[in-house]
Amino acid sequence: MLRVENLHKKYAGEHFGAVSGISFELEDCEILAVVGRSGSGKSTLLRMLAGLMKPDEGTIEFNGEKLDNPEEQLIAGHPQIKMVFQDFQVKPNMTVAENVRYKLLHFNKDYQDERCEELLTLCGLQPLANKMPHELSGGQQQRLSLARALADDPKLLLMDEPFSNLDPIIKEDLLMELTEIVRKEEISLILVSHDTRDAMLIADRIAYIENGSLLQIDAPENIYKKPKSLAIAQFFGRVNELKKSDGSLFYVRAEHVEINGSDNIIRAQLNSCTFLGNSYLCRAITEQGEPIIFYSKKYLETGIEIDVSVFTCFELHFSVD
Ligand code: ADP
Ligand code: MG
Repeated sequence: MLRVENLHKKYAGEHFGAVSGISFELEDCEILAVVGRSGSGKSTLLRMLAGLMKPDEGTIEFNGEKLDNPEEQLIAGHPQIKMVFQDFQVKPNMTVAENVRYKLLHFNKDYQDERCEELLTLCGLQPLANKMPHELSGGQQQRLSLARALADDPKLLLMDEPFSNLDPIIKEDLLMELTEIVRKEEISLILVSHDTRDAMLIADRIAYIENGSLLQIDAPENIYKKPKSLAIAQFFGRVNELKKSDGSLFYVRAEHVEINGSDNIIRAQLNSCTFLGNSYLCRAITEQGEPIIFYSKKYLETGIEIDVSVFTCFELHFSVD
């Protein structure tokens, strides 16, 4: 439904492009998470998709129709592409229900009632229908801006770090709810986040961006297990760099190292064992002086020699193309 080809954008006065030759396609009803470090170009990409910014080069096609540039039209973007803004954009002097209904005024009264009810229920706002926006929590306000965006009947929703200032558990709940809402409404979603956990929770595919380039786009499990580069691997979780007996380097994730295993034993001194809630994060130093990070279910006494076992079958192989 969305085809992005060779998008470029360089801000005036900058030496490097914020977005440099990004191409990808999005399927109907697909959820794509765009991830990358701060400053990698995620927001710039999304602004171009929303029609809020003109690309220097490249094209965006939506259902076979080329997206007009901002200066060529009255209202920014495509009517079926909707950006949900972080700053809520709700009307402070209207109740929750009025805020949603306000977006439906061009429909007949019966449809307004029906759709307003449906959206409030869908977004878990029914019990709050008569509250004022200032009486809502951050998460509830986000749900309200989502309901308002959905009232416009978009086919593609765009969200830029929508829940980044919420508590982790509330954020996680909202992301799961958002997946259900997007599935029920049969729309597509592109969500930008610097948090890989968000991406893993919600996405059918994840796009990893670095310095304005799209380096990998793949299903969450693939990008995690078969990252194309060390930088991508490290972005998604802790990676140990270890030396084989022949001196060559190899890479395994922290969860593929354990204590008391039997294969591929490495002798090391355990220097720290930190309680993380659902596990302990341990740091040991090998006889060659290399650090090894791994998780343990139990507390391990520090300052002593231990044997860690490395699952070399999970060794990461990079294939930068
Ligand atoms: P992200 O959303 O991944 O953090 P951005 O798209 O916001 O990245 O920014 C990409 C790059 O473009 C960064 O180097 C940033 O400093 C630069 N940039 C972003 N907005 C502007 C702007 N309005 N003017 C100049 N440079 C900008
Ligand atoms: Mg950003």
